[in-house]
Amino acid sequence: MKAFDIPEIYKSEFITSIKKGRQENDRMKRDLMPSILDFGKVRIHLARHFGFCYGVENAIEIAYAAINENPGKRIFLLSEIIHNSHVNLALQENGVRFIMDTAGKQLIPWEEINADDVIIIPAFGTTLEMERILKNKGIKQIYYKSKCPFVEKVWTRVSQIADSDYTVIVHGQPDHEETRATFSHSKSVAPSLIIKDMAEALLLADFMMNRRPATDFPEVFRNRYSEGFDATQDLNRIGVVNQTTLLASDTQDIADFLLQTVKEKHGLTESNTSQHFANMKDTLCYATNDNQSAVINMLLMDADLAIVVGGYNSSNSSHLVELCEEKLPTYFISSCDSMVSDQEISHWDIHSRELKTSFSYLPAKEPVVVHLTSGASCPDILIENVIRKLLSYYDLSIDLY
Ligand code: SF4
Repeated sequence: MKAFDIPEIYKSEFITSIKKGRQENDRMKRDLMPSILDFGKVRIHLARHFGFCYGVENAIEIAYAAINENPGKRIFLLSEIIHNSHVNLALQENGVRFIMDTAGKQLIPWEEINADDVIIIPAFGTTLEMERILKNKGIKQIYYKSKCPFVEKVWTRVSQIADSDYTVIVHGQPDHEETRATFSHSKSVAPSLIIKDMAEALLLADFMMNRRPATDFPEVFRNRYSEGFDATQDLNRIGVVNQTTLLASDTQDIADFLLQTVKEKHGLTESNTSQHFANMKDTLCYATNDNQSAVINMLLMDADLAIVVGGYNSSNSSHLVELCEEKLPTYFISSCDSMVSDQEISHWDIHSRELKTSFSYLPAKEPVVVHLTSGASCPDILIENVIRKLLSYYDLSIDLY
């Protein structure tokens, strides 16, 4: 895979050497069990895959290229480049300003942006509406290649099924930049609808099977469907694509369920389902799959707790937390600063969406065994720092490894 030029501040020699060793010994990624870092009193299970993905490194490389290639110019990102506060803050310290926040709230009015400004598109891509605004402003320098090629691949699939007259069901978090961008592209070529989870897939099935009047559709899926969507016609042929960073089991369950619904509706057999259902498999990206598979394998081993490092608004990190939580006490932290002491940790609750404080998170036993991983937008140096802090509580050092 291509090597990107990303700033040294994000790198960790320690983590790089572990990743390199695993990669050299297992180029086909067959062994998904974690690396075991045994420090005696502390044993760390480090996931086989974690940290910066292709799309994130690509976006960071291009953002810094934009800074270096445009001295003296004003540089703007449409919104956070990726969902990691450390990376976003470092860009802001280099003079980059954000036009919108992740929810799409305007931070800098469009009137302030002019044709000579430099604009960077985030890794999630952007909506066609936004592209039109930039074009109308006559902005000459737009860094489009910062969007992730795996997101673009989803848009290509959308166009393919639209060409064959399928309605596009986008499974994703409606407020997530990537889902908003995919929906924007999708609705320009086909009737389109966003569903966020299985509960909404069940609601959709009610309309598909005429168990609920089509007149209820606008209210149930308010702001989630393309203009002119006709629930009596547009649910006859569907294809499902998903946000690239969801939980694999969720996307599979939803695709299976909608396929079954289509079969029942049209009385189809295995051989002719394609008349009404475009089989897209899932459109999760390789990093989402690798990181989730690595965690699933890590969870086959016993541990006392899990620590997941990532941005609190990071979808892929949250799903790693979800997987770990099913098995053991899990702490979702943004950096080692969240580890206040060996007794106290401040961590993000993905359900209540608030910071919580837990005490006595490290059990009084030896060795303490910790599962450790991070999301695709988390720099390796943050993982190294978590290991260092953990070890310091036991008078241990990373040099012992
Ligand atoms: S998580 Fe996947 S889709 Fe998102 S930026 Fe990384 S490689 Fe691209």
